Amino acid sequence: MSEHSHQVGFVSLGCPKNLVDSERILTQLRAEGYTISPSYEGADLVVVNTCGFIDSAVEESLDAIGEALDENGRVIVTGCLGVKEDEVRAAHPDVLAVTGPHDYESVMQAVHQHLPPPHDPYTSLVPPQGIKLTPRHYAYLKISEGCNHRCTFCIIPQMRGDLVSRPVGEVLKEAENLVAAGVRELLVVSQDTSAYGVDLKYRQDFWQGGLVKTRLQALAQALGDHQAWIRLMYVYPYPSVDELIPLMAEGHILPYLDMPLQHASYSILKAMQRPAAAEKVLERIQRWRQECPDLTLRSTFIVGFPGETEEDFNCLLDFIREAQLDRVGCFTYSPVDGAAANDLPDQIPEELKQERYERFMAAQAEVSEAKLLQKIGKETIVLVDEVYPELVLARSEADAPEIDGNVVIPGGWDLEPGDFVEVKITGSQAHDLIAEPVDIET
Ligand code: SF4
Repeated sequence: MSEHSHQVGFVSLGCPKNLVDSERILTQLRAEGYTISPSYEGADLVVVNTCGFIDSAVEESLDAIGEALDENGRVIVTGCLGVKEDEVRAAHPDVLAVTGPHDYESVMQAVHQHLPPPHDPYTSLVPPQGIKLTPRHYAYLKISEGCNHRCTFCIIPQMRGDLVSRPVGEVLKEAENLVAAGVRELLVVSQDTSAYGVDLKYRQDFWQGGLVKTRLQALAQALGDHQAWIRLMYVYPYPSVDELIPLMAEGHILPYLDMPLQHASYSILKAMQRPAAAEKVLERIQRWRQECPDLTLRSTFIVGFPGETEEDFNCLLDFIREAQLDRVGCFTYSPVDGAAANDLPDQIPEELKQERYERFMAAQAEVSEAKLLQKIGKETIVLVDEVYPELVLARSEADAPEIDGNVVIPGGWDLEPGDFVEVKITGSQAHDLIAEPVDIET
């Protein structure tokens, strides 16, 4: 895969409302690993977000589509003119797809169809099944591209290069537009969220008449001023994470940390060349929990990495029993083309990897189940994701979309996706909680 693949060109025409749509689509593209190309030539395809409000806008939009076709050849049309698909196709029969205004899902589907997203199971920032149905009330806010680490199982730095942070003013503007467009939850993503701003030496940037540092703590502080949930993903346990815990304890941002630890044995972490491998993670987790008792911790792990001995694996099992993480994902190690770990000695046979995976999952299932049981009887706020006649799927502060569980509410309540509602937890299943709304009418 070349460094230049997955480049999307973007042309945005029309009114401020259309700009919000463009922002939303660009946000999603970035989060899925696409790069936004500044030129037609560098792009693998071009999305034209059109305006069709008045005749001159129609003409301008048709001209813009024509220009993109001449310069690039692969064009997806979205926006207001998209409702007049016949007109678009009559003028430009070669466009790849035509979708309507505010229809992010369709335009993303068209992009996926013509330029499948770069997806890597270890490092992808959004789950593969998360792409198609991302509802409009949450959005992934990508704060940087690339990575300064060199984990031996990963090829992201080869593909994307070193860390390049977006200036904090730009990120905050995007967040403001998303919240204005109805987004209720922002998921802050990047390959290494805690390293945000290192490349810019934490430079200050203008925001609302003041100065804000391009640094995770300052970003979280400013994002937390919005009437939206702020959830931090891909945070490595550097000492600077300590500064985030007070913001979580006071409810400014969600008390949720997604921290991909990948292993617990020091020798495996070293072989993986993981960031923050030497940090005393257990001690820090204990301290964070004392300071913020509602903290939810999620992590992912890899079992069967080359050289993993039974002792290393037992060290991992001990860790997950002791750390009492709320949510855990696990992969068996599999080589990625071009990754340094492919050349490591002592590759683990497939069968043994599978066996360790099952032992790991069984140990974690006990922890997760006990954690969910402790929640029964408690009241909490949930965000509604999907409404069906027979049930409503919602999430609490402890559940990131797509990867964690749901809070399931029986049907019959007058609820809409994007609503915040107070519920009482009445039961639990393997991954999900069951709940009843408190104080609202059926
Ligand atoms: S931290 Fe490691 S796994 Fe994550 S993107 Fe960087 S090199 Fe890859």
